[in-house]
Amino acid sequence: MCTSKLAKNEEGYMGCVSEECNFVQYENPTPVVGAIVEYEGHSVVLVQNVGWPAHWYGLVTGFLEKHEHPDIAVLREIEEEVGLKGEIVEFRGHWSFEQMNQIIMIYHVKASGPITKGDELADYKLVPIEKARGWGSATGIALQEWLDERRMEN
Ligand SMILES: [Zn+2]
Repeated sequence: MCTSKLAKNEEGYMGCVSEECNFVQYENPTPVVGAIVEYEGHSVVLVQNVGWPAHWYGLVTGFLEKHEHPDIAVLREIEEEVGLKGEIVEFRGHWSFEQMNQIIMIYHVKASGPITKGDELADYKLVPIEKARGWGSATGIALQEWLDERRMEN
C-alpha cells in the first residue's frame, strides 16, 4: 500500500517493513461450498470442470457470491452446473484444502430429474453409490466419509 518492502513479521506473516504502515498479508482462506449430490437415491453426481484433465471428476463446488448464505450458494451451484434443484439433507462439515488455501463447506444434497450440463463443466457422470470411492483431497475425503457412514448403516 505504501510501496515499502514486505518481510516476515513476528507472527510469521508477510507484513510491511514501514513503521507507519500496518499492512499485513494475512492470506485468509477462501470459503467454498461443495456438494455430495445424491441423485435419485442410487448415484452420486461427479463433475469435470472445463480445463481439467480428462480423467478428473469431483464434487460440485463453487465460490459464494457477495453476502450469500452457504446453504443458498450450494443449491445455486448445483443448479448452475447440472441444472438440478436440490434439497439439502445435511451439512457434513468443513474440510481444509490447503493447496488452494480454501475451506470447503460440504453438504449432502438430494436431487432428481433431468440433468443439463452448465457452461462451467466439460463433463459430468453418475456413479452408482456402491461403486463410488473418494480420493486424497478435501472433497474426496468428505465423499469417502459419507460413503463409509452409509455402508455401515446398511
Ligand atoms: Zn506499507
